[in-house]
Amino acid sequence: MALRVCVIGAGPAGMTAASVAAQNGFQTVLIEHGERVGRKILLTGNGKCNFTNLHLDESCYHAGTEKFAARALSHFGADDAVRWFRTLGIEPLEKHGGYLYPHSEQASSVLNALRSELDRTGVRVRTACNVKRITRRPDGVFRVQTDLEMIAADRIILAAGSRAASSTGSDGSGYDLASSLGHHIIEPHPALCALFCAEKDFFKAVAGVRVSGEIRLLLEGGEAERAAGEIQLNASGLSGIPTFQVSGAAGRALALGRRTEAAVNFLPDYSDLAEFLRKRASARPYGTLEALGNGLLNKSLWIALVKRAGLKPGTDPADLMEVEYHELADAVQNGRYRIIRTAGFEQAQTCSGGVDTSEVNPDTMESLLVPGLFFAGEILDVDGICGGYNLQWCWTSGHLAGGA
Ligand SMILES: Cc1cc2nc3c(=O)[nH]c(=O)nc-3n(C[C@H](O)[C@H](O)[C@H](O)COP(=O)(O)OP(=O)(O)OC[C@H]3O[C@@H](n4cnc5c(N)ncnc54)[C@H](O)[C@@H]3O)c2cc1C
Repeated sequence: MALRVCVIGAGPAGMTAASVAAQNGFQTVLIEHGERVGRKILLTGNGKCNFTNLHLDESCYHAGTEKFAARALSHFGADDAVRWFRTLGIEPLEKHGGYLYPHSEQASSVLNALRSELDRTGVRVRTACNVKRITRRPDGVFRVQTDLEMIAADRIILAAGSRAASSTGSDGSGYDLASSLGHHIIEPHPALCALFCAEKDFFKAVAGVRVSGEIRLLLEGGEAERAAGEIQLNASGLSGIPTFQVSGAAGRALALGRRTEAAVNFLPDYSDLAEFLRKRASARPYGTLEALGNGLLNKSLWIALVKRAGLKPGTDPADLMEVEYHELADAVQNGRYRIIRTAGFEQAQTCSGGVDTSEVNPDTMESLLVPGLFFAGEILDVDGICGGYNLQWCWTSGHLAGGA
């Protein structure tokens, strides 16, 4: 008789793992406590689903164990994902130099393709079914207690996600199930999310501004990470892709009580900004510092930065001392903002933290503590930067777990 596999959680990782297991001849059941499968997929990539990225290496991931993600990705990388999706009818569309979306630019296409693969491979799907407890008998058979029935299984694939965007079903219960089986959970923190900053008046003044720039994450004054792109400023702090990219590290540092700051460069293309501003001021009579910024930077942002430099927007640039040009340039290119917290789990796209990867085999996703127990997706302590890397992690870990 075929071995019975029970996959818990019908997100991208669980759907992948279940269809691969079934394809390999296992009798597979996929359990989902939501009414529908794959709800989070529909939110991805602003409804377009950035499902992988052609530029993929281990620097795109944070995992508790060094090389864990790289090892897994060496078995099933972006090319494999593209090939697999092509077999499911999803043609890739490349955007922004490497970001891949379905050609239809609809996340629902990816969800439909995964659902039809579950049908094709004969996976039994149980929705509106909550897994409450998993136990393992001495003979190695697992008992999965749901609110509807008890399911016996020879293998378990735990793919219940994290705590991010919990309205889609990932309520963190997967962590409890993993820890009840003896696994250590690295405390999860929201990642790929906005950062709240202490400088309330500044951010109120610039709320709504979007600007191309660079963020350096400083921990205890030293640079930990940097990211460039469109920075979104809101009334409570920083958002947008570069903020998301450094948010995981910021969250981990804040949890450890470390001094966490963002140094923001709003004009990264100007190498000697003080000199540039001085020459600009002498080229024509601007009359005020406010006018000096016209056409250079968003007006509200420029005025707020002039004030941050300790200057008055009405001051004539001709009256500025050399040192004040440097202070102004420093405020524009190297202003520091103290990060007080990350956005909450509900606003986060992913979580940093989860099942400790030192307890999991990176080649198979099998637990090193409990034979027959496998993990897939975001439940593991692996998180990627923005750009399709988190879904790629689901395809990778789902294939490894389902295949093993
Ligand atoms: C707004 C948004 C945009 C995103 N955009 C992108 C993007 O463009 N590209 C990208 O790579 N990543 C993106 N991500 C991240 C990506 O969606 C996640 O990393 C991915 O969905 C994780 O998949 P998963 O299968 O591990 O978990 P999930 O998708 O969270 O699925 C877990 C499933 O398990 C179910 N479950 C949980 N507990 C139980 C239980 N006890 N019993 C039964 N079922 C249970 C849940 O209901 C859920 O359906 C985005 C995330 C968000 C929130």
